[in-house]
This record gives sequence, structure tokens and C-alpha cells, in this order.
Amino acid sequence: MEKNIAVIKGDGIGPEIVAEAMKVLDKVAEKFGHKFNYEQLLMGGCSIDANGVPLTDETIARCKASDAVLMGSIGGNTTTSPWYKLPANLRPEAGLLGLRKALGLFANLRPCVLYKQLSEACPLKKEIADKGFDMLIMRELTGGLYFGERKTEEVDGVMTAIDTLRYDENEIRRIAKKAFDVAMQRRKKVTSVDKANVLDSSRLWRKVVEEVAKEYPEVTLEHMLVDNSAMQLVKDPAQFDVMVTENMFGDILSDEASMITGSIGMLASASMNETSFGLYEPSGGSAPDIAGQNKANPIATILSAAMMLRYSFKMDKEADAVENAVSGVLEAGYRTGDIMSEGMKLLSCSEMGDKIAEFV
Ligand code: NAD
Repeated sequence: MEKNIAVIKGDGIGPEIVAEAMKVLDKVAEKFGHKFNYEQLLMGGCSIDANGVPLTDETIARCKASDAVLMGSIGGNTTTSPWYKLPANLRPEAGLLGLRKALGLFANLRPCVLYKQLSEACPLKKEIADKGFDMLIMRELTGGLYFGERKTEEVDGVMTAIDTLRYDENEIRRIAKKAFDVAMQRRKKVTSVDKANVLDSSRLWRKVVEEVAKEYPEVTLEHMLVDNSAMQLVKDPAQFDVMVTENMFGDILSDEASMITGSIGMLASASMNETSFGLYEPSGGSAPDIAGQNKANPIATILSAAMMLRYSFKMDKEADAVENAVSGVLEAGYRTGDIMSEGMKLLSCSEMGDKIAEFV
């Protein structure tokens, strides 16, 4: 297969970690007989320096014309970088928000995997960490409280603020379908998280999710209240496969789930629209403190590229090959600085990329 990948290396460690993901993708192409064409685009701080704005129409158009977008990270040191003296709509992060909006990316996918080789980094009790876990949180990204009507006003002499949590059935249906589609490529279980004992929006959520579930008889559906989900994530994270939820619940639960994996350099992510198109990026930022030192952990970006293979290109065995290579490298004792522990072999960012490509 031939695929066109838009590449946004971005700022800070972005160019270093993306280069390693491309190295691994090239190895996959060689091994499985594919051709990946890359087009490098600017977004974020580097686009401000080159074009005066964090995102150009040209970058949006080129991303839309591609099969998927692979991204590093954008932004700089928020206290010292001149980018942060600009008005908010011209800062690096405005470019990312604008790009997500322009591409209609409404589903955020965050896998949270605890590799048994890194279980010491997990802050949970040893007996829980030892079981490991491998879940994916799917968060609705463009609706709910963060986008609803809001106002602050004085009512009968008392300051009052209102935020509106609004979802329509179409918004719920498309994210539910995405969750079931992803579950079909995983362990075929969906946990839908809501607060249906209190909220109308959650009762509609539950009803629509149940309708969608009928189209996926192979997938097991369970409903869980958000408060219980927060507890279950630290009590027994191994029970989850795909967890799907609305914007604010997902914001909070995905950070909780990331935290229990213990290492930011390992966390991949994807944002997708209704088609198989997606933007794939590590969950971490541009890490200005270690940028340009060949020290960053490229694994989150490499695992994001594996998600691109799986979800945008439907290349399951290629994605498996990359994920198995990552496990194999960890098993063999190779580590970057952020996940280093006693007795392991320390690699630079580029050496880690080489090693994973070799294991593919
Ligand atoms: P950060 O994630 O960049 O860094 C937090 C800590 O984690 C740092 O100590 C860093 O060295 C470490 N770290 C992050 N990724 C790593 C990796 N791959 N390997 C090893 N260590 C890693 O968060 P921050 O310092 O709060 O933000 C820095 C900049 O990144 C800011 O401008 C912020 O706005 C931006 N940011 C961008 C994105 C994105 O591009 N999607 C996401 C988050 C933050």
C-alpha cells in the first residue's frame, strides 16, 4: 500500500522524536512492502517564526489532502519564550486547537498501557501493578461543558455562573461508533462512562450508546458511573479495554489513567474524525528542558505511529510489529533517561529509534 503522511515535527523535542518514528515507519514499509510518502509541514512555534502565525491555510489544506498526520509536539518554555508574549490566538497552542477544529477531530484516543517491564514506575500497589493493564480512553473532544453556552451574571444581588452541558444524539452516536469500531480491533469490550443517575445528557448518552451497541453484537457493553470509574481505575485498571465518555469526564479520567502508567514518554495518542483520518501525537509536550540533547524518549511517538498504522491504515499486523518491538526492546533492558532504572542500558533518543527499528 502507498500512503501519504503529513508530518508536523513542531518545536522542542518534536523534530527528534518524530525522526525516530519515521525511522520505524520506514522499517515497517521495507518489511511489509509499503510505501510511505512524507510531507513536512510547519505548525506551532516554528510556524510563528517562519510565517508570523502558528497555523497557515496551507498546512490545513496539506493535512486534509493527506491520509493521516503524524505530529511531534509544539510550544516552548512558557515563561521565557517570546512566543508567549504574543496574544493568545497567535501562540503555538492556538495552532493545534485550530488544526484539530479544521480537521473535525472529535474523538480523542489515549491508550494507557502499563508495560510489565516498567511496572516499578506505576504508583499503584504492587499486586495491582504486577497484573499490568492495557486500556484505551476515548474522549469526546468537541461537545459538552467546554463548548456549551456559559455566562456569569448577578441574579438578585448574587453573582451566579452557568455552564451548559449539551449533547445531541448525533454527537453521541458518532463517538459511540468510533468506540465500538476500535473495540473490534482490540479485546471487544466497551465501558461507557456517564452520570446517568443525575444528568439528562448522560441518560441520552446511555440510550444512544445502547442503540449503537446493537450493531456490534460481538462487543460486550457495560455502563459505569463516572465516580465509580475514577475508583475502578486505581483499584482494578486491568478490567478495562475501551472506555468511552464525554468531554469533561474524559479529560479527567484520561489524566488519571495516564498517571498510573507512570511515564509520560510512553503515552501515545490520536484524534480522529468520522472517517479513518486521524492526527497522531505523543501525549507529552515539547519538553524544552531537554530539547536538542538527543535525550528524549521517542517511544510515545513511535507508538502513536503504530496507532496510525492500525486505525487510519488498517495495518494491524504492522502495528503489532511496532508494539511488539517496543516491548522487546524494554524486555531486553534498553531505556531512555526518563524510564531508566538500575541495571538497565541507557540509550539516546536516536539509539532508541534504531533499536526499535531493528526489533521490527
Ligand atoms: P512537557 O510534557 O513538555 O514536559 C514535562 C516533563 O516531562 C519535562 O520534564 C520533560 O522533560 C518530560 N518529558 C516530556 N516528554 C518527554 C519525552 N518524550 N521524553 C522524556 N521526557 C519527556 O510539559 P511542559 O513542560 O508543561 O510543556 C512544555 C511545552 O509543551 C509548553 O509550551 C506546552 O504548552 C507544550 N505542550 C504541547 C503539547 C502538544 O504539543 N500537544 C502538549 C502538552 C504541552
